[in-house]
Amino acid sequence: MGAVAYGQRIGSDGRSNNVVRFCLRSCAVFFALLFSGGAGVSQSMPPESEQLPARIIEVGRSLKDHPRLRKLTQQERENAVEFVVGNMLFVLLHELAHAAIADLGLPVLGREEDTADEFAILTLLRMGTAFTHRVLTDATKGWFFSARRDRNDGEPLAFYDEHSLDQQRAYQIVCLMVGHNPNEMADLANEMKFPDDRRESCKKDFARASLSWAAVLKPHRPEAGQPNIKIETIYGDGKGDLDSFAQGLRAVRLLETVAGRAADAVVWPAPFTLEMQSCGFINARWTDESRKLTLCYELAADFAELYHNFNKVVAAKQESKESARSLKRSTRPSLRGTRASNGAGGRRSIAGATRDDSAPAPARAFKRHP
Ligand SMILES: [Zn+2]
Repeated sequence: MGAVAYGQRIGSDGRSNNVVRFCLRSCAVFFALLFSGGAGVSQSMPPESEQLPARIIEVGRSLKDHPRLRKLTQQERENAVEFVVGNMLFVLLHELAHAAIADLGLPVLGREEDTADEFAILTLLRMGTAFTHRVLTDATKGWFFSARRDRNDGEPLAFYDEHSLDQQRAYQIVCLMVGHNPNEMADLANEMKFPDDRRESCKKDFARASLSWAAVLKPHRPEAGQPNIKIETIYGDGKGDLDSFAQGLRAVRLLETVAGRAADAVVWPAPFTLEMQSCGFINARWTDESRKLTLCYELAADFAELYHNFNKVVAAKQESKESARSLKRSTRPSLRGTRASNGAGGRRSIAGATRDDSAPAPARAFKRHP
């Protein structure tokens, strides 16, 4: 659906502004509820999630002799590690939404995969740190890089899939970010040439998503003093080249961080397990029967491949675009008649290289569909 159609819908929907106004009051309640740490958490203790950025820096330092990373600067290594960890965190929260929907019998009035993405986005927005902002930006890039790779590989778009298309999943992140805080996210929205009318409708989308999650989770919040369910965390061995990912993710304590917040925030009906394993394929899943949420190390390796293959292409593309603009400005006094920026062209600044770019397609056995 195009931006114009959204604009028309907003204009004819008298409730939209009311929803946004209502959210100004009640979304504060939502943010106090959604994975907030629950009633039993001491406010004097710093949340473990605040320690993630420092741990990522440490992992970046520990990888200075890694064959794929030793030519990078420390900052570049940290960015690469943060991209992988951030995308794994996004997938972990997405899968946790599947667990909550199944375990708590939550109603889903739409596609569950979109709902799970919404949960991950809203949880990160609720945390509201510079780190979680970067996680959302990295997750956006991850979907764009994935779409670019599929295009380079000649994979047809799976319109029938239970998941939205990769680019749609990317834009949904930006939409809820902009809907949450149009000013703070202006740079990202501008970079993506996000249309003004869609920015407006994203306020409504954010408000409705926030209220919906707050409503369905409210009956499952713990009372003061109520004991938490145990959420076990397991890091399996990283087989072969996956060992560095296993060590890095263990050092970052990604599973423990999410397990602690999840146990505090919701009364789960039974214990369950968060685990990372060598799976033999690229994916993540929640399994009702085993009560296990599994993230595959292969998925982390896949994110690393995406970052390695596309990030520098994007930077080079931006640089060459800037050079071309400077050249045009100096040789053409007027650009009147050229196409105004309205969305499609600007996406490439984040989406990565154009179709004819020669970024090598990494080998992978399975399509990533967390
Ligand atoms: Zn899913």
